[in-house]
Amino acid sequence: MGAETLRPLSKECYYTHPRLWLKNISSPQPREARTISTSPAIIPRAEHNISRSNISESALKVLYRLTQAGYSAHLVGGGVRDLLLGREPKDFDVATDARPEEIKALFRNCRLIGRRFVLAHVRFGREIIEVATFRAQHEAADGEGEGEGVMEDGMILRDNVFGTLEDDAWRRDFTVNALYYNVADFSVIDYTDGMADLKAGVLRLIGEPGARLREDPVRMLRAVRFAAKLGFRLHPDIEAGIHELGELLTAVPPARLFDEVLKLFQGGYAVQGYELLRHYGLFGYLFPQTEACLAEEENDFPHTLLLKALGNTDARIAVGKPVTPAFLFAALLWDPVRQAAARLREAGMSELQALQAASQDVISEQTRRVTFPKRFSIQSREIWTLQARLPQRAGKRALRLFEHPRFRAAYDFLLLRAEAGEDVSELAEWWTRFQEVDHEARLKMSSEVKGSSGKRRKRRRRKRPAASS
Ligand code: ATP
Ligand code: MG
Repeated sequence: MGAETLRPLSKECYYTHPRLWLKNISSPQPREARTISTSPAIIPRAEHNISRSNISESALKVLYRLTQAGYSAHLVGGGVRDLLLGREPKDFDVATDARPEEIKALFRNCRLIGRRFVLAHVRFGREIIEVATFRAQHEAADGEGEGEGVMEDGMILRDNVFGTLEDDAWRRDFTVNALYYNVADFSVIDYTDGMADLKAGVLRLIGEPGARLREDPVRMLRAVRFAAKLGFRLHPDIEAGIHELGELLTAVPPARLFDEVLKLFQGGYAVQGYELLRHYGLFGYLFPQTEACLAEEENDFPHTLLLKALGNTDARIAVGKPVTPAFLFAALLWDPVRQAAARLREAGMSELQALQAASQDVISEQTRRVTFPKRFSIQSREIWTLQARLPQRAGKRALRLFEHPRFRAAYDFLLLRAEAGEDVSELAEWWTRFQEVDHEARLKMSSEVKGSSGKRRKRRRRKRPAASS
């Protein structure tokens, strides 16, 4: 079966006859014969709203340099999608027929990254333009020795099978992510009917949803992320696919899930992302310990704390304030830590010891699912254990604590706990006041803390026998 017999496919066929759009995958024929030559919709400049003035200078430089060198180069992905929606793109992705080494040879400020998916990062100051070589579906190009692709149990392990612009369009995840802006004539190229889905506000997987989700289960998280960000709804096929295949997320390397979790929760729409993750039953695959707490939720506690933390994160991002995964994970995992610490206290540990041990346990359990890099987990642990030190303000303790590098985060966390209904409101107010007053008043506040004189006497009593022995 050659290109001719496949040409008259209607759009419906692509979605309902996966083998067809997968380009006659089992055929041993040469590649040309297996490629469906569909003609894309070309939307001329006059009929869309993408203007070069909204594209970053750096992205334009990359596009022009590649085309001047004789390669084909298009803007694709989130940049095109967001511009068409009248939104400001987070970043710009370029797709080209130049191979990674060829891209590297063209740009001095270029680094090749990734193994699963090799791409070029071209850096301009703080901006990075991602340049990817056109990819094909694995099946469409196997045996041709062009780049490499590795699959296992239907999951893509390496995605470096190079192809044409058209191949590249079909192997992308969602139709709205497969629109190309052609810098040569300023048109938009649409193979997958992405424009229609963009207008309808629908996220639709290209191809057969089950196969595409098996190939890369992270697409489930991407679907949720784009739905949260764009306010789009998921096509019922994806919903059904997620329902059936959610568990495949447990097979995704934890380091990749960490990246996705950050994109989900630090992109400015964390609340919505969280609600959708829970709605689709995916949250538990990422944070099983938190999910277990949510399942036996008392007084809405963890839910409230989480939602407030995520809401604060969104609000900070909206006004350009920095956010850190350390605080985010501290909030996401607080309830498991709190509950584990309570059990350890019952078994006889001090509050601080219990929090330290619980933090350790919860972090190592979490890391099995989603990597939680040490540089962040160390800080989260400090935020948690400082919760046990914040009530101890007697004498010089409050002043010392105030100097702690993690004090501010621990105090913010205390505020969050108070807001979420934990019994720490008075303590939180005390610390708020403490920061507002001058040094003298701080000393006075500390001396008035209940038990402050008692603590000092106790320490003196302990020292005396030591000195006399
Ligand atoms: P964002 O606004 O978050 O950058 P994006 O759509 O640009 O959204 P990227 O992760 O930057 O997302 O990826 C760029 C493009 O690469 C996507 O739009 C999509 O076409 C393609 N892509 C990325 N990840 C996948 C994937 N896992 N499977 C298939 N295609 C993907
Ligand atoms: Mg992008």
